[in-house]
Amino acid sequence: MAVGADRIDNQVDDQNDRRAELAERLAAVRARIAAACVAAGRSPDEVALLAVTKTVPAADVALLLDLGVTALGENRVQEAAAKVREVARLRPDAAPRWHVVGGLQRNKAREVVRWADRVESVDSERLADALDRAVRREQETGRRAGPLPVLVQFSVDGDPERGGVPRSGLLQLAEHVATCAGLQLDGLMAVAPLGADPDAAFAEVESAADLLRSEFPQARTLSAGMSGDLEAAVRHGSVVVRVGTALVGERPITSR
Ligand SMILES: *Cc1c(COP(=O)(O)O)cnc(C)c1O
Repeated sequence: MAVGADRIDNQVDDQNDRRAELAERLAAVRARIAAACVAAGRSPDEVALLAVTKTVPAADVALLLDLGVTALGENRVQEAAAKVREVARLRPDAAPRWHVVGGLQRNKAREVVRWADRVESVDSERLADALDRAVRREQETGRRAGPLPVLVQFSVDGDPERGGVPRSGLLQLAEHVATCAGLQLDGLMAVAPLGADPDAAFAEVESAADLLRSEFPQARTLSAGMSGDLEAAVRHGSVVVRVGTALVGERPITSR
């Protein structure tokens, strides 16, 4: 009995410690974003934080929601579906927005459109078609009203591992997405190549985003910048930074 009570006390202590740690990290990330905006002559409320919670347990996600995070990014679709349900159970009133930020297989489209509020990693016409079909099926059965907002993923260096469409294919992909009734083209997402100078990379990203906007004025969103390079992305017009490690730490706790 006493041992059980001790264990519960320890769990409560752990939870409080983790909450304090996440609060501190979140404040630091928000301060970095604000400082980057000021340095770039931009208003801090122009840049939104997308908390990337891949590998992070639902309990931690719930704490992030308690701390005021409203948008969550996942790149492991298989892991995400169960987490989305678990977070909804833990925080039924929170209604966070879930964004898919990583490589997505076409055979996962049907599942993803059930919970995703935005897919940021559309990098092929075939993936766009699969999402479009899945959305329209959800619409026909009354489970979804509007189209699915998407970003096209741009590749700075054409590395197929990281995904994304090179500049030469960007407008053709965007035109295709724009013809998909189930999809709404909101903008562009990019990941800077590993080891590259982030300013040079994000200058190319910004230029690609300008090109996209010149043909599709409604595609205003630029999702760029992560834990290691958000300042450079903010200097180059990003309006969404996707932050994982700086928020949740190097080794997310998976035992809860
Ligand atoms: C993991 C991931 C992030 C977050 O990266 P951190 O370096 O952990 O901040 C952002 N975008 C994508 C596409 C990711 O897969």
